[in-house]
Amino acid sequence: MPVSVPDCIFCKIVKREAPASIVYEDGATLAFLDIRPMIPGHTLVIPKSHATYLEDLPRDTSGPILDTARKVAAALRRSGLRCEAVNLWLANGKEAGQEVFHVHFHVLPRFRGDGFGIRAGAGYGQMPERAELDAHAEQIRRAIANQ
Ligand code: AMP
Ligand code: ZN
Repeated sequence: MPVSVPDCIFCKIVKREAPASIVYEDGATLAFLDIRPMIPGHTLVIPKSHATYLEDLPRDTSGPILDTARKVAAALRRSGLRCEAVNLWLANGKEAGQEVFHVHFHVLPRFRGDGFGIRAGAGYGQMPERAELDAHAEQIRRAIANQ
């Protein structure tokens, strides 16, 4: 049985206590259409067991959501909906734009001229010195080693 949180809308969808337009389901994941699509066909892929953030997924259980996102991305291209390319998007935390705190991938069909875009912050485009990249890489390597 998937782990469920009472007030979570996506857990309610898993339990069929809230409506959803489901496109795919397997033992570990569910894919359904976003209720406010950015582009027609905009699909959300979730683990059936509640996890707030990507890193809350138990070790070795993040693979199935990517597998399902891959399946949906391939299907969108063959679906008849307008889809010339696909973006995967995952907002991990409030400051990253997360609004529903049950981890989910957005699978977004894209086509030339769709008007969708990601805005980068001021300063984007400059290439830092290699020493700065190396220092940041070292910080992240240490954090990975301490997981
Ligand atoms: P995020 O900002 O990444 O947390 O995205 C949450 C997404 O969930 C938004 O695009 C919402 O439109 C979508 N959403 C919220 N409630 C529902 C629902 N009941 N069914 C389908 N999609 C939903
Ligand atoms: Zn949930």
